[in-house]
Amino acid sequence: VKENYTLGIDFGTSGARAVVINALGVVQAETRKSLIGEDITQVKAWEYTLFGLIAEIPPKIRQKINAIAIDGTSSTVMLCDATGTPVTTPLMYNDTRAVAVQKQLKVIAPPNHTVLSATSSLAKLLWLSQQPTFSDAKYFLHQADWLAFLLHGKLGISDYHNALKLGYDVEHFCYPIWLTQLAIAPLLPQVVVPGTPIAEVTASIATRFGLRRDCYVCAGTTDSIAAFLASGATSLGEAVTSLGSTLVLKLLSQTRVENSLYGIYSHRLGDLWLTGGASNTGGAVLKQFFSNTELEQFSRQIDPQKVSPLDYYPLLQRGDRFPVNDPDLQPRLEPRPDNRVEFLHGLLESIARIEHQGYQLLQQLGATPLTRIYTAGGGAANATWTAIRQRYFKAPLVMSQHTEAAYGTALLALRGINNNRN
Ligand code: ADP
Repeated sequence: VKENYTLGIDFGTSGARAVVINALGVVQAETRKSLIGEDITQVKAWEYTLFGLIAEIPPKIRQKINAIAIDGTSSTVMLCDATGTPVTTPLMYNDTRAVAVQKQLKVIAPPNHTVLSATSSLAKLLWLSQQPTFSDAKYFLHQADWLAFLLHGKLGISDYHNALKLGYDVEHFCYPIWLTQLAIAPLLPQVVVPGTPIAEVTASIATRFGLRRDCYVCAGTTDSIAAFLASGATSLGEAVTSLGSTLVLKLLSQTRVENSLYGIYSHRLGDLWLTGGASNTGGAVLKQFFSNTELEQFSRQIDPQKVSPLDYYPLLQRGDRFPVNDPDLQPRLEPRPDNRVEFLHGLLESIARIEHQGYQLLQQLGATPLTRIYTAGGGAANATWTAIRQRYFKAPLVMSQHTEAAYGTALLALRGINNNRN
């Protein structure tokens, strides 16, 4: 069993990575490629990157891989024709051109639905449907769907993580009627459980990369869910805080929590719900005032057991959604002490307070109480910050076991293939 390997491939916001694990979850190989500038928006570059990542895995390891899964950035989408050839350049996750169809979308979708955001997959599909090239389109696919197609050759298949912002109903496992009535409905992908084995790699892919003919390509997921899976969190009440440029909270809950006011929504994860919210506070504000070396040095001079009296709301620009919903919220960074160590203490303390407020809000809205918090992102390695944060929580804070989304996607493939065998 140990000789059965799975490969996870992550297409994130700045680069792509591949991780091969064995059946016990031990990493066997890792490869990475950056996707910068124009390349990040070009499907040809995606294809080149995908094949490069696989080709750089040592051949001996490659031939033992029996399942592959891919994650992509959420709501990065494209249209392609009957042969899988893109008919336009893709629309990236943060593309806001679909603002133009938001009014139309409001008439179509139920109030407060996640698809109403201008960057949702459905908003993008609607926008694309009004472009001249649309008549050539046969399939609407997410980044992960199309990359998987390059390996298994099947078109029109997605997973319910990628398809959430397309309007797929993850509670009833179907597209809602308001969606299937639309003229764009024939382009909607068939949606399966993330990790489900879809098909074996094509003969040409197997030959080209020395992969086994019976190597399965499984349904994928999104990059942020993949990062959650990598953390090691699996049980009810377990959460992952990402202390990256922004502050992102995710909590495994029995109940589904949705609140459009605070931008809170839930993904399905097996029988549980992965509920979460994202704040604009976080490391990007720290970066504005401190270099990474300063962050490390100054943090060591802070006594984490001492409560900083400084009460900030650190933001780069005005406005936040979660846990405070106020588009006009002003960054609060006053009073500013002359001592930079004290200033940093106040910032770390304040972000910890906002994190605590965030989890309180999720629980107030019905999420399962916290039992453990894993931490990922640039701030996770800061032991002082962890100790400050721990003052706010009864639940223990632990490091994420793995932080690479590609690792989480390899786990997804492993579970997918194991379920298939049972
Ligand atoms: P992203 O969300 O952009 O992927 P990362 O997870 O790589 O970000 O984290 C980068 C952030 O981590 C930066 O904004 C930086 O300020 C912050 N950071 C880096 N080192 C530390 C540290 N020792 N303590 C706190 N924050 C840190």
